[in-house]
Formats: sequence, C-alpha cells, structure tokens
Amino acid sequence: VISLSGRELAASIRSAAGAAAGRLSTPPRLTIVTATDDEASAWYVRSLSTAAGKTGIECSLVSVEPPASAPEIMEVLAESSADGIILQTPLPDGARLAELAGAIDPAKDVDGANPLSLGRLAVGLPAFAPATAAAVIEILDHHRVSIGGARVVVVGRSAVVGKPVTHLLLNRDATVTVCHSRTPDLASVTRTADILVVAAGRAGLIGAGHIAPGAVVVDVGTNPTPDGGLVGDVAADAGAVAGAVTPVPGGVGPVTTAVLLRHVVEAAGGAV
Ligand code: NAD
Repeated sequence: VISLSGRELAASIRSAAGAAAGRLSTPPRLTIVTATDDEASAWYVRSLSTAAGKTGIECSLVSVEPPASAPEIMEVLAESSADGIILQTPLPDGARLAELAGAIDPAKDVDGANPLSLGRLAVGLPAFAPATAAAVIEILDHHRVSIGGARVVVVGRSAVVGKPVTHLLLNRDATVTVCHSRTPDLASVTRTADILVVAAGRAGLIGAGHIAPGAVVVDVGTNPTPDGGLVGDVAADAGAVAGAVTPVPGGVGPVTTAVLLRHVVEAAGGAV
C-alpha cells in the first residue's frame, strides 16, 4: 500500500506562504481565541503559534477567562483587528462553534468556522474552507489522485470536516455520498468508494472490510492512544486492500496547519 504523506506538501505550502508573507509591507497577524482550559487544545495552539512565527505571521493568543459567556466570546471575535481569527475548540458547555463563529468577519475567517463561509462554499463562491477540509483536497491533488468523476464516500458530517469537504469535492465534480453515525451497514456504502475520506474520530472504525480493492483512503481522524501517541480512524489491516492511505500522524494533520497559515497570509492580502 502506498503511504500518502503530507509532510513534504505541508513544507512547500508553508514555504510559499512564508515567501508571500515576506512580500507584504507588514507581517500578517493571526489571533487565536480560547475559552476553556483544555490541555490538548493548549498544546495545539502552542504548535500552531510556533509554526506561524516561522512563516512570518505574528500570532497572538487571547484567552477569555473561564467561565466565558457566549456574548463575551463573540465580542472578542468581533473586535479583533487581526487579519485572521480562529476560535479554538473545545468551547464552554452549551456553546456551539457555528453560532459563536458567526461573529468572525468572513474575510478573516481563516478556519472557515462562520456558517456564512460554509454557505458560500456550498454555492461555489469564494470563501475560506475549514483548513482540514481544504487539506484533504490538497493532499489528493498533490499525490495526483483524480477527483473529477470519482465516487467519493465521506464518513462524518460535521460542520468542520465532513460537510465542507463534501462541498469542496462536489465543486470538483466528484460524486459524493456522506455517511454518519446513523448510516446502516456502513461497510456496504464505503466499499463503493474510489476515494474514501474518513473523519469520524473513532479509532479503527474503517478496516479492510470497508474498503474496495485499490481505493484511496484519506484518514482525517486523530485519536489519542493511552501511551501518548496518535492513531487515525483507519485500522492497520486496511493496507492489505487499499491502494493508498494517508498516515496518521504525518498525513492530513501537517497539511491542515500549513493551509491555515496560507489562509492567514491570503487574508492579509498576500498572493500565495
Ligand atoms: P465530530 O465528532 O464533530 O464528527 C464526527 C462525525 O463522525 C459525525 O458526523 C458522526 O456522525 C460520524 N460518526 C461517528 N461515529 C461514527 C460511526 N461509528 N460510523 C459512521 N459515522 C460516525 O468530529 P470532527 O470534528 O468532524 O472530527 C473528526 C475527526 O477528525 C476527529 O478524530 C478529529 O480529531 C479529527 N480532526 C483532525 C484534524 C486534523 O487536522 N487532522 C482536524 C479536525 C478534526
């Protein structure tokens, strides 16, 4: 089975974004807003801000002190003067990303969290896609997997991955089927895919029995293991049937971060 790495692609996207950032008169600015004390999220924010710095992006962190109310968070989002704004999850209990992110100016919505951005994507208007969804397309293009006319099955229907990637794929002329937790006999659907995109957040959900021989499998899932590692949603035995699989870690993840940084440079007016 071929491993579709995202590392080289991520490096080339970061380097193009860094070069474009360098041509701007002032460095692009990214604000990351957090509203809970979550360790995994804090780790991610640190690594994103380091990567931003290396790309010539000024990154500032704004933490709305818990317990943060929805209006407080929305005010911070609406008032930020940065070029790009990210509202980091998890959010306080009861708060919904799609609702709060409505306060992010779509021109600054570099992770495509405002429902307006998703709506614009759906009708084929320019908008920032959620970086993970965009990364799925980038990784397929980079490895010359043809999307137009392909039968694609997406597992997961979230507003951050499943739905936006579905629209991006439709815009590229794929025939797309979306599965989710209530889909009966998942394997019978996923076995019809030329390209299978898995974003369920369930370690090992997709095994050899879910995959058509030779299919390309994009594993978006990131599931922490008890020993501090990371595994995807695709089980190791998938490799016996699939033609190619993205690794976890080292597949969609690094490309996601790189795309996010590129979006920030673009939001600042950079030509990447
Ligand atoms: P989510 O929990 O919001 O959505 C999961 C989706 O999977 C839901 O639509 C649900 O219906 C579906 N699902 C759950 N169990 C299922 C099952 N047994 N069969 C079929 N469908 C099932 O998660 P999300 O935010 O969309 O993220 C999905 C995964 O992608 C998570 O592992 C997340 O950590 C990962 N992720 C990775 C990146 C990255 O940069 N690599 C970015 C975002 C999310």
